[in-house]
Amino acid sequence: MPRQYPIEKTRDIGVVAHIDAGKTTTSERILFYTGVSHKIGEVHEGEAIMDWMEQERERGITITSAATTCFWTPTYAHGDKSKEYRINLIDTPGHIDFTVEVKRSLRVLDGAVVVFDGVSGVEPQSETNWRYADEYNVPRICFINKMDRMGASFENSFQSIRERLNPNAIAIQMPIGAESAFEGVVDLLRMKAYHFEGERGEKIIELEIPENLAKEAKERRHELIEKIVEQDDKLMSEYLEGKEPSLEDLKRVLRKATLAVKLIPVLTGSSLKNKGVQLMLDAAIDFLPSPADMPPTKGISFKGDPMERHPIDSEPLAALAFKIAADPFVGSLTYFRVYSGTIKKGSYILNSTKDKKERIGRMVRMHANQREEVDEIYAGDLGAIVGLKDTTTGDSLCDPENPIILEKIVFPTPVISIKIEPKTKADQEKMGIALRRLGEEDPTFKVSGDAETGETIIAGMGELHLDVLVERMKREFGVESNVGRPQVAYRETIRQEADAEGKYIKQSGGRGQYGHVRLKVEPLVGGTGFEFVNAIKGGSIPQEFIPAIEKGVREALDKGVVAGYTVTDVKVTLYDGSFHEVDSSEAAFKIAASMAFQEAAKRAKPIILEPIMKVQIIVPANFMGDVTGDLNSKRGKIEAMNDRLNNKIIDAKVPLSEMFGYATGLRSMSQGRGSFNMEFDHYEGVPNSVSQLIIEGKK
Ligand code: GDP
Repeated sequence: MPRQYPIEKTRDIGVVAHIDAGKTTTSERILFYTGVSHKIGEVHEGEAIMDWMEQERERGITITSAATTCFWTPTYAHGDKSKEYRINLIDTPGHIDFTVEVKRSLRVLDGAVVVFDGVSGVEPQSETNWRYADEYNVPRICFINKMDRMGASFENSFQSIRERLNPNAIAIQMPIGAESAFEGVVDLLRMKAYHFEGERGEKIIELEIPENLAKEAKERRHELIEKIVEQDDKLMSEYLEGKEPSLEDLKRVLRKATLAVKLIPVLTGSSLKNKGVQLMLDAAIDFLPSPADMPPTKGISFKGDPMERHPIDSEPLAALAFKIAADPFVGSLTYFRVYSGTIKKGSYILNSTKDKKERIGRMVRMHANQREEVDEIYAGDLGAIVGLKDTTTGDSLCDPENPIILEKIVFPTPVISIKIEPKTKADQEKMGIALRRLGEEDPTFKVSGDAETGETIIAGMGELHLDVLVERMKREFGVESNVGRPQVAYRETIRQEADAEGKYIKQSGGRGQYGHVRLKVEPLVGGTGFEFVNAIKGGSIPQEFIPAIEKGVREALDKGVVAGYTVTDVKVTLYDGSFHEVDSSEAAFKIAASMAFQEAAKRAKPIILEPIMKVQIIVPANFMGDVTGDLNSKRGKIEAMNDRLNNKIIDAKVPLSEMFGYATGLRSMSQGRGSFNMEFDHYEGVPNSVSQLIIEGKK
């Protein structure tokens, strides 16, 4: 089937929001309005929209899929279907404990609608998400939601965006009224007022700007135009000569500046009260990028050479699997985004990350209320493959003849673990399956067994992350379990270079054992992991034993040298040794290598590392002293303190081990009025006093 929508008429976007700001409501409205304007697969000509809406309400719109496809004809096109766009709405998570989910969705979306609560404006988590979006250079528009709520203020929220997120945010709308008198919005580019009528605001009425707002609208437009013309020399000089820029010019320059993240358009409305969402969709079409606007996608060849792919159908396929989800009807779904080329049903593709070929049996595109079987998915578009075997989140999928490994999504390693125990025998059987599935979906969730005790240990990015997974296990898989106390995932590393020799030699009677290695250990930069270098010259150890030696070192890394935690950020160079024609074996070299590594690491000033969390706390100013005093007693480092209205915002770095149960602690310190957010930041060496407690198992 040929391409239905040109790539320029595609938008891959996500709605990003602080929890409770209205992401769900806004997404639901988006799917509702796009559904009304475009009825997929429904051919009841002449059926009144209202009937369809009734049915829709009964059935309920589902917005749980990782990427939902919908269609939008901008309101200003007045129903001209040739102006219709395809929007792939990519799901983003609401809570920051799932940073990996935020990151992975940012990796596949080209633009974002950031939703704010019009009462509270910028909240701590909005800042975290904003920083991620900055990191990935994601063009954004802002939607100040909940203008109907008591205490809603467009101006305060807008200023909080400017002050705390980006001074180049510019208002392209202003509200008409606020709180219970919120009626609609003024479009400052068109200088028109819009009201939303009908049961769900589906009728858009364009009016002149009310008299009482005319002056404010004029001032705001003036400011807006100045900001836009600054971005374009020609427009600027015309403007200075007194020429008012045309709507087309303003839109064109604003689009360019938004794509470059030089300007950030701000809109407003109330999703709940069905006001403003359609105009926000128009703005997403007008100002957020199409996949064709994106820079080429970067990757590497199998040899490690840098490569690039362009968003063009005729290039070889390059796609990224960004989410694996269990679907109750079709089984496992692998969501992917195509960066170049096309992906065809019935073809073979290469999973270049795993170097495994997979066949594309069935492909689907998810809509709000149905899944559509598709034969081909083109560059810039998203879809899901049914039943892939070896592919997990973050893998690259490509043309087998033209392999490319796309830039990886870097997943942080888990920092916290708990023991988990099935409640009954029946639960035990189901638990294995449930844990495996959840692990496939979420690369920051790890499951391991303690061989000695037979216990199962699950590890993740925070207490809440693990709580949610345990809850999902119960809800989705019907597995009841008991969980233990959370434990910090400590690590170990070394602080200096050292050499050591390992000998495993037994030559008395029968077939002997002979393994002998010399190796050097050196510290690596934090987060690098492990590097093994074979520097054997002149065949002092035959090549065939080298893999066993590396394996022996890896096993020793896992066992640790200080307190039994995995050793990380270390380079091991094997530089000498000897062998015996008859007695040498892989097993002997493996043991010798383990011994050598342990000895070398002990001489290399080994230390314990602990996860340090980035914490942001908001409390009313009068509780500030208690909260900072408490942070100090937790070995926390306060990095910034800022004011916001009557609150203080404290940014700090605190060891994870000190943060268990902080939600309760903060509540009692602040009479329930404080809130906080935390995410993993980095690993750091622990002080000696703490190290001793960890070794003794007291921490
Ligand atoms: P999410 O956590 O960001 O997905 O937020 P939800 O969409 O679930 O909204 C959180 C709460 O805010 C719900 O009770 C919504 O009904 C309410 N809400 C969402 N949008 C609006 C709005 O525009 N006005 C008002 N007054 N409430 C809203």
